[in-house]
Amino acid sequence: MVDKFTGSFIQQSELPKAAFEKAHEVLSSARLHRYGSLPDTLSESAQLEIAYAKYQGAEYCLACTSGGQALQIALRAAGVKHGDKVLTNGFTLAPVPGSIQAVGGKVTLVEINEDLVIDCNDLEAKAKSSGAKFLMLSHMRGHLADMDRIVEICDTHKIILIEDCAHTMGATWSGIKSGNFGHIGCFSTQTYKHINSGEGGLLTTNDPAIIGRAMIMSGSYMNYERHGTVPDAKYFEDAKYDCPNMSARMDNLRAAILLPQIDELDQAILDWNKRYDIIAEFLIPHSPKVILPKSNDKAIRVASSIQFRVPNLSNDGALKLIDDLYVRGVEIKWFGRNEPAGFTSMHNHWHYVESQKLPATDRYLKDLFDMRLPLSFSLDDCKIVGQILADEIQKA
Ligand SMILES: *Cc1c(COP(=O)(O)O)cnc(C)c1O
Repeated sequence: MVDKFTGSFIQQSELPKAAFEKAHEVLSSARLHRYGSLPDTLSESAQLEIAYAKYQGAEYCLACTSGGQALQIALRAAGVKHGDKVLTNGFTLAPVPGSIQAVGGKVTLVEINEDLVIDCNDLEAKAKSSGAKFLMLSHMRGHLADMDRIVEICDTHKIILIEDCAHTMGATWSGIKSGNFGHIGCFSTQTYKHINSGEGGLLTTNDPAIIGRAMIMSGSYMNYERHGTVPDAKYFEDAKYDCPNMSARMDNLRAAILLPQIDELDQAILDWNKRYDIIAEFLIPHSPKVILPKSNDKAIRVASSIQFRVPNLSNDGALKLIDDLYVRGVEIKWFGRNEPAGFTSMHNHWHYVESQKLPATDRYLKDLFDMRLPLSFSLDDCKIVGQILADEIQKA
């Protein structure tokens, strides 16, 4: 038996060599941002927009300063006005309610189910009762809801769907990439997501009017034709007078770092899922003391983290489990904390959002734990972590 794991849960894998080279080129050129690229050349940001649109299978892409900015621009480009209700999951990360709040929308929370995805029955009920015309669907921790049903509900109620794909870059449902089900997909390239530029985000859409507005808002200064994926000039005609500037386009250095990572993404997804499966194999025999969320057969996830519930654990029991694992070198987080710690995903910690009753979500979050699976872990590392987790959960 291994007493202690010595790997780091916050160490991401090294960036590809090509990222160093590309970054160096950008630094030497001093053309770090906006429209200083040489005539007849494409800036790295524009190249990234072309490369990501191709990877995603979307017509248009806009590279943004963060995932949160991509969400805000998406909401504005989709037409959210002050006071409009926006439906979203009761379980997500703070940038999601934050973006809705920032554009003046009213966050309208929907319950999740035991598999940690939005509860489609509650979504349908709240679509009817609230009359909301927007859904920001957060694929939190990479778990995909029944996308066939989501699309059907949105069609029936004439709801504009924006997907928050911060945890599902490269994931699919029935072979279709997450982010391609609604009007807009938003992605994050923050260090702990699936490609790493420190801070950063991407927005994709097939709608030329939406990308026209989004580009102007990102700070095009009427140089929109120098972006990577540009719609017909007519889509800028109204937008350029009506859309305020948010100065939120990604700079060339970050785009240069990301470009080579897109080529490695599909391999990284296989590597993450392999790590998840190893750890899951250690936990499954301990069911029902520990419960893993079920994945639908139609979904191929990107398991860059693992979630599990340990029902019937008291608050003190949960804190003790975290401490006992920490002593053995395994770092887990708990969504049931009374106060935000490390990150905030509990809806009742967002005091800027009108308080809402979500008894089912609260019940599931109370005993839900979360662990990162960085690709810097070897498969043997994952066996050690899995064994320690299983031991300590068994004792809890
Ligand atoms: C990280 C994240 C985002 C976007 O965050 P940024 O840090 O602004 O890029 C959005 N939604 C979820 C669920 C996230 O975890």
